[in-house]
Amino acid sequence: MAQGMKWMQCPVCKQTIHWKIPDGALKDVKRFPAAIIIKHDDHYLIVYVDSHLQLADTEIAGAFVEGSTQKKA
Ligand SMILES: [Zn+2]
Repeated sequence: MAQGMKWMQCPVCKQTIHWKIPDGALKDVKRFPAAIIIKHDDHYLIVYVDSHLQLADTEIAGAFVEGSTQKKA
């Protein structure tokens, strides 16, 4: 599988983004399209790649939050 550099126009700031799927990141993915989150400056994008690792869709994440694990009492 070719996992070279990809590029896209950022839908938020319109700049060109170069990005790469991390090696092995999708080896356990059973269903495509698979979602990948790209951080670009202060915004986050969700891109979907198909089983040929081609860009299938792009979404703008409305917010980014870190979830915290519920502590057992
Ligand atoms: Zn951007």
